[in-house]
Amino acid sequence: MAALEILPYPNESLRRQARPVTEFDASLARLVSDMEETMNAEDGVGLAATQVGVDLQLLLVHPYAFRGSDARDEPVVVIINPEVIWQSDETNTAEEGCLSFPDVFIHVTRPAKVRLRALNLKAEPFEIEGEGLGARALLHEVDHLRGVVMIDHVSFLQRQRALKKHQKHQAELAAEARRKGPVGKTAKVSTAG
Ligand code: ZN
Repeated sequence: MAALEILPYPNESLRRQARPVTEFDASLARLVSDMEETMNAEDGVGLAATQVGVDLQLLLVHPYAFRGSDARDEPVVVIINPEVIWQSDETNTAEEGCLSFPDVFIHVTRPAKVRLRALNLKAEPFEIEGEGLGARALLHEVDHLRGVVMIDHVSFLQRQRALKKHQKHQAELAAEARRKGPVGKTAKVSTAG
């Protein structure tokens, strides 16, 4: 397993329409395990393949999003070629973050409940339903497969504010990388315990 680089906005991969997965082979399994390592290293709740530069309809959601901290050590949910088959009229507004916008948190309104149909790693169909954080995580990641990012859901002014914060954080990261020299990523202390 190897951690992958998470592409920050505005990398062009984040605006691509992902292609359906057609080959359920060993390289797909390897990609899933690398994405899982990447997501867990960053303490993310979800990760879409487009965020690591792969334009396939593949996303991971941590079971924490559905069942809270009881599910902390459970395996991630692998969701391939997802299709939203139902979403509630009731909406819910909450703070949302994205690994492609580290340090940016904005309030996004989304359906409170959602149901998806998808395939697992063995190409078997299944349905998954999410509510609250679960719905938010599923819809956020499905958006990524369509080239949509969270700032597309908010007003112009909120978007400008979020982008300004993002650009400042990216500049800080670049300055830190220059100071440290070409030694690669520094070790990150995980809060996952
Ligand atoms: Zn995201």
